[in-house]
Amino acid sequence: MNFEGWGPQRWAIHFNQMLNLANPPNRYRFDVGRLAMETSRAMFPADPITKVEEEDLDGFAGSLVPADSRTRWGIAFGRGQSSGRRRFTIAHEFGHFLLHRKKFPNGIHSSEAAVDGRTKLEVEREANEFASWLLMPLDDFRKQIAPKDKPDFDAIGACADRYEVSLVAAALRWLRYTERRAVLVTSVDGFIKWAWSSEIALKSGVFIRTSRGPVELPGGSAVGQELFTPEARTGIDHPAGVWFNQPTKEHSFRSEKYDTAYTLLHLGDAEPKSWAEEEPLEDTFQRFMRR
Ligand SMILES: [Zn+2]
Repeated sequence: MNFEGWGPQRWAIHFNQMLNLANPPNRYRFDVGRLAMETSRAMFPADPITKVEEEDLDGFAGSLVPADSRTRWGIAFGRGQSSGRRRFTIAHEFGHFLLHRKKFPNGIHSSEAAVDGRTKLEVEREANEFASWLLMPLDDFRKQIAPKDKPDFDAIGACADRYEVSLVAAALRWLRYTERRAVLVTSVDGFIKWAWSSEIALKSGVFIRTSRGPVELPGGSAVGQELFTPEARTGIDHPAGVWFNQPTKEHSFRSEKYDTAYTLLHLGDAEPKSWAEEEPLEDTFQRFMRR
């Protein structure tokens, strides 16, 4: 088989087809490290992955490193990761192996932000795309949460369990295909660490920019007032002006383990944008034909 030119999604679909055929018990909670070692040995006998191990990585989440001989690769994941984060890290490094090892013969180290999917670096984005498509196949995920659903943290948490990934990984996966306007926000001590909007939310101007420094949580929000009640988790309706300039449903809770608050925001349907009639269509058409 010729794998040249295969992108992240193509690779993930390939392995999902294999897994669907094999249909092992715990189909969606399979051992990613074993998959990486066994399939790379069969497909790339000249330089397979022969080691997947926990290591002290000095702040990195994961790495793909060649052996001295350059005929073997090892995947390392940092200590203390939950099983869900560990699976995503290993899948991410497996993605680097499949997609980038020729370009980076000395290996790749991945930061935590890179493995979370918050970086814009092309290789990191591709490795994450592979990992999330591998661990959370779209056809199955869409059966759990339909593109027009408005899931709460229980629904997203059920997916995190199903695919044995972190809550954030499952939420980001859903945000990438939802047809709803929604935003995921993580915050620490009253400040937003980062936020991610669904595509349709982004297009309608609903996003929070954190690249220019810390952003304070809105004072009227549940998370801003540290109201981590069951109601806040189930969902609180806010009028326009609390979050953005439109009514928003907020779901918030705090994870003691990570000392981080998670907030899911659901907005209403976007108002259909009317287009400005700057020039008659005919003129545009004629100008186009003259080129
Ligand atoms: Zn990486």
